[in-house]
Amino acid sequence: MAEDTLEQAISAAAPERVRTVLLNIVSQSDAARGLASAELLAPPTSTNNGRLPSTKRKRDSQATIRFLVCNQCNQEFDTTKNGPQSCKWHSGSSLCCTI
Ligand SMILES: [Zn+2]
Repeated sequence: MAEDTLEQAISAAAPERVRTVLLNIVSQSDAARGLASAELLAPPTSTNNGRLPSTKRKRDSQATIRFLVCNQCNQEFDTTKNGPQSCKWHSGSSLCCTI
């Protein structure tokens, strides 16, 4: 089936190829951009007055990158779950690397 073949192609491709294809897709489709944003961005937590931005456009423009790769331990981490058990180099944590 075509879906199986596409999934196999995605799994077999080099990470940089998949990244390039994803960037191309989100530049061509608002729907794809929305799906990728939901997976890869962390929504803004609040504004100065403690409220979320009033419009989706403002919320999207204030969203932040959700997943980063640590420069020290080279592990991907979720910036929304970066707590005390995280690598000490991940911002917001003061404990030693547990990875
Ligand atoms: Zn780290």
